[in-house]
Amino acid sequence: NLSDKLDKAFHILKGHGKITEVNVADTLKEVRRALLDADVNFKIAKDFTTKVKEKAIGQDVLTTLQPGQLLVKLVKDELTELMGGDVAGVNLSGNPTVILMSGLQGSGKTTFSGKLANFLKTKKNKKPLLVACDIYRPAAINQLHVVGDQIGVEVYSEPENKNPVEIAQNAIKHAKANGFNVVIVDTAGRLAVDQEMMDEIARVHKAIQPQETLFVVDSMTGQDAVNTAKAFNDILNFDGVILTKLDGDTRGGAALSIKSIVNKPIKFVGTGEKMEAIDVFYPERMAERILGMGDVVSLVERAQEQFDEEEARKLQKKIAKNEFGFDDFLTQIQQVKKMGNMKDLVGMIPGASKAMKDVEIEDDAFKHIEAIIYSMTPRERSKPAIIDVKRKARIAKGSGTKVEQVNQLMKQFDQMSKMMKMMQGPGGKNLMKMMGG
Ligand code: GDP
Ligand code: MG
Repeated sequence: NLSDKLDKAFHILKGHGKITEVNVADTLKEVRRALLDADVNFKIAKDFTTKVKEKAIGQDVLTTLQPGQLLVKLVKDELTELMGGDVAGVNLSGNPTVILMSGLQGSGKTTFSGKLANFLKTKKNKKPLLVACDIYRPAAINQLHVVGDQIGVEVYSEPENKNPVEIAQNAIKHAKANGFNVVIVDTAGRLAVDQEMMDEIARVHKAIQPQETLFVVDSMTGQDAVNTAKAFNDILNFDGVILTKLDGDTRGGAALSIKSIVNKPIKFVGTGEKMEAIDVFYPERMAERILGMGDVVSLVERAQEQFDEEEARKLQKKIAKNEFGFDDFLTQIQQVKKMGNMKDLVGMIPGASKAMKDVEIEDDAFKHIEAIIYSMTPRERSKPAIIDVKRKARIAKGSGTKVEQVNQLMKQFDQMSKMMKMMQGPGGKNLMKMMGG
């Protein structure tokens, strides 16, 4: 499965201090496969991985974690960026604001019209009017009325009228006369893109000049979604995309493909048949979904948060001035501990969980280290060089450890201080790696 594949991919990177061209290529091959599995269009997946590769090559490993984690972060950030970066809102200017729904039959236009009306009414304090412009199926008008009743929103329809342009125009007049400030026009779709449907929606679009034209697409349709989106965009130059049925088991790769092809923001997602099943589209969440590795991503983020920038800068100064002492070391250990249980942390790293299954990880791996440091005097902590043989024995006794353990810690600490001094990057961030190594 996908998680195994990525596990394998990131395993390749294990142990490398720098992301090199070779292991990036191997890993990104797997990332590309993951994207294809998620229904991302082939060319888009290829372009995407090429771009990430360019960014990754030669980049220093910034965090304490495996280089693979950095690549995950790069991949996720790039995906997020591609899908729009920030959250896109709905344009509610215009009095009334006119919103036109477009899309194939069954994509979820009618359902989403109801959800949006409900959202605007309850969350944005608007007075919406729903308009039934699907004139081909009598059941369609009925369906919108059922939806309207459910959410307490008026539905405008003219069951005898066979001209959707007129219906839409009349509805806007009705809205103006009756104090509705949003008009949501639900339209007829067909099972596939055809000329008649396109002509009709183009006529409605031209006549009512909506502030927002939304293209509704079923996220389960995968690759086809791209062609449909392109066809509608060519005619309507729509303002945003609605991705429905994300409650299914789709990975949502259509989101990335559509965004790449038509370059329009995805504004909302539908996550169920109920009127409340509507969510603002978060590019970042979608990136995680496509990658199917929320755990990994949040782990990386947690690590980065904990190694707070300011702290890192202070530390760097100390290291440069040769002032890094056991007190600072203690602070670092506490930072690492804040991230949570060591076993959990390791378990979240793909590859690491397997590689380390034979290694015993103590729940409190730092217990002895902390005890030893606490047994030192403040002066000893800041100037470890003054600790002599006699004091070592005393510290061991005080901390309930052996002299060898004290020696080992001091030796590690000495090596670490030297290495940190050599490194240009924020030294503190590499601590965990060294302690683990
Ligand atoms: P339209 O033909 O574009 O108006 O599509 P409808 O709104 O009638 O929706 C078609 C079917 O998809 C209906 O059975 C809806 O209940 C269902 N549907 C719409 N949106 C969602 C969604 O977000 N999740 C799920 N699971 N079903 C949805
Ligand atoms: Mg409909």
